[in-house]
Amino acid sequence: MAKKNIIVIGGGASGLMAAGVAATNGARVILLEKMKTPARKIRITGKGRCNITNTAPLVDFIAHFGKSGRFLRQAFAQFFSSELITFLEGQGLKIGFERGGRVFPADGDAPLVARLLIDWVKDVGVELRTDVSVVDLLIKNDRVAGVVCNNNKKLYADAVILATGGASYPRTGSTGDGYRLAQSAGHTIVATRPALVPLRTAEKVVNGLAGLQLKNVNARLFINGKRKTQAFGELSFTKHGLSGPIILTLSSLVVDALRSKAQVAVILDLKPALDDAKLEARLQRDLKKRPHDPMNSFLRGLLPQELIPVCLDYAQVDLDMTAVMLPAQARKKIRHWLKNFRFEITGYGSLDEAIVTAGGVKTAEIDPCTMESKKSKGLHIVGELLDIQADTGGYNLQAAFSTGWVAGKAVCR
Ligand SMILES: Cc1cc2nc3c(=O)[nH]c(=O)nc-3n(C[C@H](O)[C@H](O)[C@H](O)COP(=O)(O)OP(=O)(O)OC[C@H]3O[C@@H](n4cnc5c(N)ncnc54)[C@H](O)[C@@H]3O)c2cc1C
Repeated sequence: MAKKNIIVIGGGASGLMAAGVAATNGARVILLEKMKTPARKIRITGKGRCNITNTAPLVDFIAHFGKSGRFLRQAFAQFFSSELITFLEGQGLKIGFERGGRVFPADGDAPLVARLLIDWVKDVGVELRTDVSVVDLLIKNDRVAGVVCNNNKKLYADAVILATGGASYPRTGSTGDGYRLAQSAGHTIVATRPALVPLRTAEKVVNGLAGLQLKNVNARLFINGKRKTQAFGELSFTKHGLSGPIILTLSSLVVDALRSKAQVAVILDLKPALDDAKLEARLQRDLKKRPHDPMNSFLRGLLPQELIPVCLDYAQVDLDMTAVMLPAQARKKIRHWLKNFRFEITGYGSLDEAIVTAGGVKTAEIDPCTMESKKSKGLHIVGELLDIQADTGGYNLQAAFSTGWVAGKAVCR
């Protein structure tokens, strides 16, 4: 039987996987990548450590995608975290397992993951063409016939896999081209917006806190005064607001709420392990031990230095008032602040700083078993370009690898 000619557009996680799998299964594959080197995004994932996937069981894994999770069930049934780990180990990658089921390269080297994937596609015979941008799809009678490149060159194929990613971190090459290409093939694009982004607040207090990181904090999210959800873990302050893992987790709900003009607040519990009574006991104990300490140093056991003036300002207490002089009412206010450090959220980061793009190609228009378009035969759409997005924890890369794997297999059938 004649070899199938396949074109893959985009050399990120999903495109490299799709191209390699198609070539391994006997196809002649051309992979077109607009940047000089593929996989630019993989190199910066997980703060340069690449959180490849997560060992959470399927049901929990899918739950991290919210509404978009159901669509991925079929893809994960074919190629899931254990298959990805086995595949990467087969390419020589040593794997490390961390808390929360997170999976990383053992030596935390994200660029190594990129290099392994690029070497693999070359080894299995994929023709990798970099610095080539696809500007159009050739579609005839609802069937894809090939692509048009930025040099006006037309390339023909039996099937095309569109793997151009979302629109976040555009400097990595993911500039959202795929949305226009998919639209030209008849697809609906669910409104794109930043996800897993830092949040902005008008509260001036954050200006002096930029760079401060807190561990073991509980953040409660309120939308129009109603408590929606909460997240526990690490948080950091930026010049304009809040960031860090727990804030990114809350951000998708926040973005949607702010877009619908709702009022949003995040309230931090800086001492989630201590209820009001325990906090009072703790303050009383410290008071007995160090009654003549000025409040500025008295609170050091409870708070990082940067937060002490903020807390005392809220309680209207002078920094140099001695602990023994602290009125009971002010102590109550301090206790309240420690468990209710409040921020009105007024905005969120742009796509430039979003870890993923929410929205994208409507999944109802894609066959979940093959990733083939229901609008244009022979066209397969994979990765972040689809309307799928998950929390942090390795879920997004797994979705890119799984959908790429499924499409790479399907085009060879
Ligand atoms: C800073 C950061 C950290 C992250 N960390 C993690 C993490 O640790 N774990 C995790 O699971 N997820 C992480 N993610 C998310 C994850 O990286 C993405 O969801 C995933 O890479 C998407 O893969 P993709 O193949 O769909 O798209 P991409 O990786 O974006 O690849 C798309 C490719 O297509 C190319 N391209 C675009 N348009 C064209 C065109 N017209 N012609 C030719 N080529 C084109 C681009 O240059 C790019 O190489 C992170 C994202 C960011 C930004």
